Amino acid sequence: MPHVVTDACTACRYTECVAICPVDCFHAADDRLYIDPDGCIDCAACVPVCPVKAIVDAFDLATGSEELIALNRQRSRELPVIDGKSAPLPTAEARRQSLNP
Ligand code: SF4
Ligand code: SF4
Repeated sequence: MPHVVTDACTACRYTECVAICPVDCFHAADDRLYIDPDGCIDCAACVPVCPVKAIVDAFDLATGSEELIALNRQRSRELPVIDGKSAPLPTAEARRQSLNP
């Protein structure tokens, strides 16, 4: 099962995940990222560097994993690859604190 980005990424975009991914399979919307499940090699390197725990192995999702994989695949096809670290969104720190109080 690939790794997927969950809704916890919304309003954050710290992009530590992008910097460590060896295969450039992250795609960027204005407010969050998605993983191309067909490019992800399941190395899990991105999981511990995400400050809001937004990346999960789809295998570990109790329910809804198929929907989340499909959403990440669909949005990855619509959005450009992001292959370098960028500045977090202005809302990122407040978002991080709300998710990790
Ligand atoms: S580090 Fe986590 S929250 Fe930040 S952009 Fe990557 S997946 Fe989203
Ligand atoms: S699990 Fe590895 S290959 Fe997949 S998105 Fe994360 S860093 Fe990239």
